[in-house]
Amino acid sequence: MLQLEGVGKRFGGLPALDGVGFTVPKGQVTALIGPNGAGKSTLINCISGVLAPSAGSIRFGQAELAGMAPHHIARLGIARTFQNLKLFPRLSVLDNVLTGLTCEAGRSMVMAMLRLPYLRHRERQLKLRALEALDRFGLADKAALPVSILAYGDKKRVELARACVSTPRLVLLDEPVAGLNADETAAVGEQLGRLRREGQTLLLVEHDMELVMGLADQVVVLDSGRCIAAGSPAEVRRNPLVLEAYLGK
Ligand code: ADP
Ligand code: MG
Repeated sequence: MLQLEGVGKRFGGLPALDGVGFTVPKGQVTALIGPNGAGKSTLINCISGVLAPSAGSIRFGQAELAGMAPHHIARLGIARTFQNLKLFPRLSVLDNVLTGLTCEAGRSMVMAMLRLPYLRHRERQLKLRALEALDRFGLADKAALPVSILAYGDKKRVELARACVSTPRLVLLDEPVAGLNADETAAVGEQLGRLRREGQTLLLVEHDMELVMGLADQVVVLDSGRCIAAGSPAEVRRNPLVLEAYLGK
């Protein structure tokens, strides 16, 4: 579904990514792991168009994503969460999730100029979908609250709901359980497991090895901007290069 080849990214003279290549198969969970500073978030930013890679190609079906604007990439069906939350604090939980449907809402605005009743119907439909997404992540009872008053763990789940509400073809998750306690982590793990069973394609950046090993079909390991290993969770776990990257620092 997603195919990376020779992806590089430099900040000034320093390479954050150097010749990264792997594929994300449809309907599978691919985990991207590696020590801090390995380039994981940079790679997610390159795939989602937040950053333009300095080298290489990122193919999504027939489309070349390298250099494409983020909203175009979103429209192709790629959604993401951010390692550091990017929510609208003054908007309600529901409205934050609705921003995950802006592609579709945009079309309905044009329809609105032509036929008002259609818009009202459409708006109700979008709200229902947002509520369903919130329900799936256990947040339906908080829909009307401003995001700013939520606990950190709930904010992380609002990001997940916003990423999933549009039923994207591919979801990029940048450390979805970082900073969560054990119970919250288990709950999110369960919700991600359900997405996986439903056939959702995921690229998951995560430090929590238990979560990764339980969810991932394939694990890709980055270290200092390079891909040092890829394979099944069991294969990667016993790879000496991986052990060294984690323990040698
Ligand atoms: P990870 O997510 O694996 O912890 P990052 O992708 O955030 O790693 O960072 C990889 C490297 O790129 C780090 O050395 C980081 O300091 C650098 N880096 C990331 N973003 C920027 C930026 N916007 N400007 C300059 N350097 C950056
Ligand atoms: Mg990161």
